[in-house]
Amino acid sequence: MKIITGGMVYYNGELQNLDILIDKESIIGIGKFSLDGKEIIDATGLMILPGGIDMHVHFNDPGFTDREDFETGTKAAISSGITTIVDMPCTSIPQVKNKENLYIKFNSIKNKALCDYAFYGGITGDMVRDSNFKDLIELYDEGVIGFKIYGYSSAPYYEQLSYGEMYELFSLLKKEDILFTIHAEDYSIITHFMEKVKKDKKLKGGEAWIKARPYLAEPVCVWNSSRFIKDTNLRLHIAHISTSEGVKIVKERKEEGVKISCEATPHHLLLTYEDLISNPKLTKTSPPVRCIENKELLWKYLEKGVIDCVASDHFSGEWKKEKDQENIFKIASGISGIDIIFPLIFSEGVIKKRISLKKFVEVMCENPAKILKINKNKGGIDIWKDADLVFIDIKRKWKIKGEKFYSKGKYTPFENYEVFGKVIKTILRGEIVFDENRGFLVEGGFGKWIKRDS
Ligand SMILES: [Zn+2]
Repeated sequence: MKIITGGMVYYNGELQNLDILIDKESIIGIGKFSLDGKEIIDATGLMILPGGIDMHVHFNDPGFTDREDFETGTKAAISSGITTIVDMPCTSIPQVKNKENLYIKFNSIKNKALCDYAFYGGITGDMVRDSNFKDLIELYDEGVIGFKIYGYSSAPYYEQLSYGEMYELFSLLKKEDILFTIHAEDYSIITHFMEKVKKDKKLKGGEAWIKARPYLAEPVCVWNSSRFIKDTNLRLHIAHISTSEGVKIVKERKEEGVKISCEATPHHLLLTYEDLISNPKLTKTSPPVRCIENKELLWKYLEKGVIDCVASDHFSGEWKKEKDQENIFKIASGISGIDIIFPLIFSEGVIKKRISLKKFVEVMCENPAKILKINKNKGGIDIWKDADLVFIDIKRKWKIKGEKFYSKGKYTPFENYEVFGKVIKTILRGEIVFDENRGFLVEGGFGKWIKRDS
């Protein structure tokens, strides 16, 4: 049996000086206990929070492992306090659109993962047109957490759903309790402006990207997709929401009783058009970052609980080939963020008083577990839950340096950002998996596939 003692534990909504008793993988006691005969983990002076859950990453494995693989991606995760990730189905080969491909992915990554993981399955426009719903049902039965769909897709061979296809899909499955996570940008708006901007030789860099992916493309797609999910039993989650107008629609739908949630990314919460214009290689992402007023509204909606969680949308492109390009349309879209999400949001959110500590734990740990339906064992510090814990030294100040990332994407728009609070140790299912001084203490393969609670 292990005992964590001396730390300030986030329990029942507040920090308390308590011990945590761990037997094998689970927490079996929170309180004050005798240390006799137990393996002691000293947490004196440290804050103990539940392990973070990042419900949106692209680890590209198998198929694009020059960009990222499950070993580098999950090392980056646990070094930054993330103990569970959910991998997207669209940026690996083969794409996870049927059961066979799900197991090709699982067999490729199972001996590499250092943190726990879940999978999204995929459904695309061509599958709906072919009335291929058998693969979706099989994937769900195998334990994928939900399905990723696109309103506008730039991923090759991963076709978006037209509104007609979305409407048909949701109507057919309306009795099921299935999670659909949508990249919500309107196809018609983006196709039109993308073509126009590409022809206009005067527009370049970040300015061209802003014009090609207009603000209204998001609220229009949020409104439509959430309208189709209304009156069904399905759940809709808006990935990387970037516009305050999109969030307002989510709020209204919630008030109507629609089962809808949304996530914001660190870059949409912290970066603006100015960053994109001055540094397009590092800041280009879809949807684009927005204006300063919009970004501050996202924080307000996060604190109010309208935005349910924070996810990195981690994507690491190869620097020379995919990022270091002059033409904005040739730069791979996406930001390498899994190494810093937890401490960055802690510092910018809690330390800078934009959100409370309680809200931080909700958006980084509790809410993702609830949305993903894995909260029986994940997402909090409580008896019988997995002992997934992060030790933070809130007195430590440090600077973000892309070259120190464990991810293969060793670059970041947050270069030299000052962060208050450092992850000192990460514990996953009762085992210390990362220690600031000793490095990684488990091998690839320690991470487990997490399925929905039954
Ligand atoms: Zn993504």
